[in-house]
Amino acid sequence: MKEKGLLIVLSGPSGVGKGTVRKAIFSKEDTNFEYSISVTTRAMREGERDGVDYFFSTRERFDEMIQNDELLEYAQYVDNYYGTPVDYVQKTLDEGKDVFLEIEVQGAKQVRKKFPDGLFIFLVPPNLQELQSRIVTRGTETESSIQNRMNAAKEELDMMHLYDYVVVNDDIEKACETVESIVVAEHCRRERVEKLYKKRLEVNKC
Ligand code: 5GP
Repeated sequence: MKEKGLLIVLSGPSGVGKGTVRKAIFSKEDTNFEYSISVTTRAMREGERDGVDYFFSTRERFDEMIQNDELLEYAQYVDNYYGTPVDYVQKTLDEGKDVFLEIEVQGAKQVRKKFPDGLFIFLVPPNLQELQSRIVTRGTETESSIQNRMNAAKEELDMMHLYDYVVVNDDIEKACETVESIVVAEHCRRERVEKLYKKRLEVNKC
C-alpha cells in the first residue's frame, strides 16, 4: 500500500528568494523531494544549464507543448513563458515521491484547481524595499524589467489567500527549515493519514 506523493508548490513574488530557498533545500543530501524542472522561453542566464535550471525552449516548441496538453500549468511572466511538464509530475507522484514546484502565482493558481490537495506555500519578503533591493542586487534585470517585476510583485502579494501556509523569507536557512517542517506536518495531517492507516490496521489484524 503505497501513499501517493505530495505535490508541494512554493510560490511568491519574483525576487523573494524562491529559487534560493529551493536550491538550499535541494543542496541537502537528505532531501526527500523531487524537483520538477520547468520549461521556459526566456534566455539562459550566465551560470545556468539546460536541463538543470530549466529546459530552455523556443516559443514555437512551448506553444506546441500547450497544444498537446504537455503542461500542468503555464504562465507568461514579464516577457517570457514558463511551464511545468505534466508527465514528470504525475509519474513521480504515482511512485509515492513528493514533487516540489517553484513557480509564480498564476501558475500556482492553475495547479490549485487541478491538485486541490496539494500543499501550497507562499514565500513573502519581510517588506517591499527588501524585495526591490534583492532584485537589484541580483543584477540580472534591466531598469524597466526591475520596475515590471516590482509591479507584478505587489499584485502577487494580494494572492496570499490562495495558499495554505505563509513563510517570511528574512533568513534563507530559517525559511528552508520552515518549509521542510511544513511538509513533515502536512504528511501527518489526519485527512491524509487516516484512510491509509486504517487499511494498515486491517492488514495487520491480530
Ligand atoms: P526567473 O526568470 O527569475 O527564473 O523566473 C521568473 C518567475 O517564473 C519566478 O517567479 C519563477 O518562480 C517563475 N517560474 C519558474 N518556473 C515556472 C513554471 O514552470 N511555471 C510558472 N508559472 N512559473 C515559473
